[in-house]
Amino acid sequence: MQARGTVLCGLRLGDMDETILDCLIIGGGPAGLTAAIYLARFHLDIMVVDAGKSRASWIPCSHNHAGFPDGINGAELLQRMRDQACKYGAKIETEFVSKLERDSATDLFTATWGSGCTTTRTVLLATGVTNRRPPMDEELHDDALARGLVRYCPICDGYEITDKRVGVIGSDHHGVAEALFLRSYTADVTLIAPDQALRLSAENQKKLKDAKIECVDGPAQAVAITGDCIVVDTAEGHYTFDSIYPALGSDTHTQLAEMVGADLSGDSCIKVDGHQRTSVPGLYAAGDVVIGLDQISHAMGEGGVAATTIRNDLCAQQPRWRESAQQMEQAESGS
Ligand SMILES: Cc1cc2nc3c(=O)[nH]c(=O)nc-3n(C[C@H](O)[C@H](O)[C@H](O)COP(=O)(O)OP(=O)(O)OC[C@H]3O[C@@H](n4cnc5c(N)ncnc54)[C@H](O)[C@@H]3O)c2cc1C
Repeated sequence: MQARGTVLCGLRLGDMDETILDCLIIGGGPAGLTAAIYLARFHLDIMVVDAGKSRASWIPCSHNHAGFPDGINGAELLQRMRDQACKYGAKIETEFVSKLERDSATDLFTATWGSGCTTTRTVLLATGVTNRRPPMDEELHDDALARGLVRYCPICDGYEITDKRVGVIGSDHHGVAEALFLRSYTADVTLIAPDQALRLSAENQKKLKDAKIECVDGPAQAVAITGDCIVVDTAEGHYTFDSIYPALGSDTHTQLAEMVGADLSGDSCIKVDGHQRTSVPGLYAAGDVVIGLDQISHAMGEGGVAATTIRNDLCAQQPRWRESAQQMEQAESGS
């Protein structure tokens, strides 16, 4: 419901209903773009605002994304999805949304970014997470990532390190779990503490010993690429690996959800119901920002579910009957 004459986003609403979006999607990774494709094809008025740092854009070549037997580069996949969404009328802005507000009198949201703002009936948060990087020079990191010498996702690309020498940089339960996971791909796994001596519980020490995983004390720093390998400087000397996996956790982008009072889960993800609704009416979330499998397929699936829920929730508030061609013509000509 919308109060007539309310000032939102610097605009006086009322006679300007066309300035209110049906849905603003914040985040243009696989979750947000899948939702954009669905919502645009539902004939809804939508917009994507994306800061352009999708984790998918880091993927040199994904081999587990169904439908691409020879793999697909992450940036190319995103471009294909953007093209598909735009084909059906989605608008995409490259901006970082810094503020989200909800007016409880009108049930409308206002989102603000550097060069503008918009008012919208619903918001889909598909803002993802950022992996914490290991201590290393930024240029070296990006080069190593592009060459598969630094990897972040054992579920995605563990297959590619089959029978290779692998280092896992991490010390807490993330590090131990990731080292054990990778052990089913290769017999040569080393767990390295990032910042100090490894401090592991007796239970974890036993698990690592049973799996024949070598343990090395930090501080550790990836220092160079030699040939097809990466060199890591540790408290116990230089180690050379075919790939290293940082297992240092990630930061979830929940700030906008918190601004409008949405509930978070214990592990700092946005809490949703089985249809991607958050605890705030009109606010939805999908992809890595929600607890679950951090994978493209899952992000896309949640994006599709969220979009369909948004469409159905909007139509339950007010039916969206399509006008006949004649009615549309008359509206356009003003007769
Ligand atoms: C190196 C690497 C390799 C991977 N390989 C694979 C693989 O092979 N297969 C696979 O299935 N998965 C892979 N993944 C995981 C996959 O990339 C993610 O699960 C997927 O990208 C999640 O999609 P998402 O849309 O939820 O978030 P993201 O793709 O991270 O997109 C979130 C978007 O939201 C934007 N954003 C955040 N905050 C704001 C804001 N306030 N305003 C505007 N925009 C904002 C970000 O800039 C970003 O563009 C890999 C990940 C990495 C890092």
